[in-house]
Amino acid sequence: MNDFRSTRVPADGGGADRKALWFIREVGLPAIVRSCVSCRSTRHHPTDKFRVNANGKLLDVWMLICCDLCGRTSKIPVHERVHVQSLDHELLVRFENNDPALVRQLTLDAALAGRSSYRLDWTGTWELETDMPFYDLEGDDAAPLEVVVRFELPAPVRVEKLLTAGFGLSRAAVRRMVDSGRIHLPMAVDAKAREDFTLFVTT
Ligand SMILES: [Zn+2]
Repeated sequence: MNDFRSTRVPADGGGADRKALWFIREVGLPAIVRSCVSCRSTRHHPTDKFRVNANGKLLDVWMLICCDLCGRTSKIPVHERVHVQSLDHELLVRFENNDPALVRQLTLDAALAGRSSYRLDWTGTWELETDMPFYDLEGDDAAPLEVVVRFELPAPVRVEKLLTAGFGLSRAAVRRMVDSGRIHLPMAVDAKAREDFTLFVTT
């Protein structure tokens, strides 16, 4: 099997012969944050249902969500007054069958959130799994290491938090290693990552 994976090797060569995989595992969907018309709560979750309305040849498709506190159901427009022939038939069937994969996909969809003016709260949606055995980064005999970070869901994760959790180091120790160039990152340490990347630890 061909391997088209590309890795960004730091300028000094990296030369990591040890590799680790850190996996951002999905443990839940983000909350949909917008005000509820019936109570003061702002947190909603999908009801796992869509509603499709036909008006002549025009279709409306909504994703139904419900308030975490009072249970009131409300609608997020997914397609509005779209011509029946311009909506892929297979997709329409998935809406009509309340396809759970489509519910998940749309709940994670930042563009839909932007269009419909709500925010996603990613608190508690992921946990870090690592296959890394104990690795003393601060020891004298530490070997170069390549860490591949994979995301199961596009949760924005602060890179510093990932490093403290993954290496079991304090924030200060992480900052020190980034500042001294021992940890090579493809983004700033205080940035948020939400898709796969690779980092390197050099000796
Ligand atoms: Zn409510």
